[in-house]
Amino acid sequence: MKFKRISVASNLLCFITAIYITVFFNRAAFVFIADYLKEDFLSTGIIAATLFLLTYCLLVLFSAPYLIKPALIFFVTVSASAAYFIDHFGVLITPNMIENAATTTRAESGHLMNAHFVTNMLLYAGLPSLLIIWVEIRHRPFVQKLWVNTLLISGCLIAGVALLLTNFGTFSSMFREKKAEITGRLNPLAPLSSTIRYFVKVNDERTYIAQPLGTDAVQTKPHQEGSNKKRLTVIVVGETARAQNFSFNNYYRDTNPMLRERDVLNFTDVSSCGTETSVSVPCMFSPFPRTEYSSKKFRQSENLLDVLKHAGIQPLWVENNTGSKRVADRIETIDMSQLQEGNPNCAGGECYDQVLVDTLASRLDSFKTNTVVVLHMLGSHGPAYYRRYPPEQEVFKPACRTSNFADCTQQEIVNAYDNTIAYTDKILAEIIDLLKSREGEFASSMIYMSDHGESLGEKGLYLHAMPYFIAPREQTTIPFISWFSPDFLKENDLKQACLKTLSDHPASHDNLFHTVLGLMNVKTTVYDKDMDIFNSCRGDGAAS
Ligand SMILES: [Zn+2]
Repeated sequence: MKFKRISVASNLLCFITAIYITVFFNRAAFVFIADYLKEDFLSTGIIAATLFLLTYCLLVLFSAPYLIKPALIFFVTVSASAAYFIDHFGVLITPNMIENAATTTRAESGHLMNAHFVTNMLLYAGLPSLLIIWVEIRHRPFVQKLWVNTLLISGCLIAGVALLLTNFGTFSSMFREKKAEITGRLNPLAPLSSTIRYFVKVNDERTYIAQPLGTDAVQTKPHQEGSNKKRLTVIVVGETARAQNFSFNNYYRDTNPMLRERDVLNFTDVSSCGTETSVSVPCMFSPFPRTEYSSKKFRQSENLLDVLKHAGIQPLWVENNTGSKRVADRIETIDMSQLQEGNPNCAGGECYDQVLVDTLASRLDSFKTNTVVVLHMLGSHGPAYYRRYPPEQEVFKPACRTSNFADCTQQEIVNAYDNTIAYTDKILAEIIDLLKSREGEFASSMIYMSDHGESLGEKGLYLHAMPYFIAPREQTTIPFISWFSPDFLKENDLKQACLKTLSDHPASHDNLFHTVLGLMNVKTTVYDKDMDIFNSCRGDGAAS
């Protein structure tokens, strides 16, 4: 006997799918709204009903033979995957989030799309998709369908507006005040609009040309063979390290055992430019402060590394993350992902940050003049924190050893994260030791700054990338640590005792551009001494 397929009218299928999407994939938005409205469930229900009507309108637009099935499957799949990240990590879906997803490495996306994600998708998107494929859909004759659907969509839109008018004052002030928090959780609106906005941005940026910056730059103390040592500044760009988990910043655990043994200067009050790599990293190297920074401005201008090059300094970018985010477009770059084969520190398309120390060591002999090296770490990039350090470096136990947080306790997640900070401490100490071991040839300094912080479950949030103006401080407060060799202090005219007084001086990514120019004695009109964090400790005026 042949198994009979169920026959269903096209608009009824749209209706059922719209209910399914509204109920299953918008829970986080409704919880947020109910919370904002102080548990006014009637008003929350009105928003939910309006969202359902709008989703239904959207689906009915695609209600045509051959189009309807792929369209419904697409909307269900997009909503299910966005809802997974919203529900599991508390993230918001924004154009920057889409950019992160589009520009990530295969290894990194592998950690996010783990077995738990796949199971979730099979259940919430795969199964309904099979049902959609299986049912037989009845369509009205074309002209009749056109009329019916036009009336249906108009009716839904009118009903939606009427629903919102029942409590318009409250709803409009809520959307004005919490627009990002609500729209970033709505499905399928958030992933669709964010993807469109991301591609519009990419398309616009294709035509941008980086205008020259600081072409007047000169070194006031260039390297001269035989008279002074080569100056070397290593900028270590950290990843996802938040300040509060450093024992330097009063964390209850000893996450800085090795740096504490070295004469470093830690800044205790430092904020980031963005809450994600693709904003923070370009912003750090751009001449613009956070309040003026935009991706467009960055792409239309050269950056710190170009200015250094204009001054005759050799810049080098060593990449162990997901790319320089176009900061190093015009300078020499070494990509660690090319190392892979046979390297004991690399596996599965990723390398421990140890490779940065090894690469720096192997390149020192090639530096013939004053040099600035950027080491872009993988640092504490989540959710697979346990993959950031070798197993023997696991100090805090038990550590969460999966990228699916639902399988770990809160403490296990924090333990894994703290291990990444302790490992970063070790890497930075090794860099300092390496620079010390070459004091005969180089006057060296090291600057370490993370790109942004991380949420570890506070307020139900995980990971990062919250829009800046609503981001919790865990995501925007970052570590900033510096170290100078005695010769460097002398060459750069810095007073050690004065430097120690800077520790609680507020600093931010805005300072990096000018600070590095100051450290390399670069004179240029784009340098602002007031933004150079060490400038007050330079010269005879500084307290020695
Ligand atoms: Zn980052």
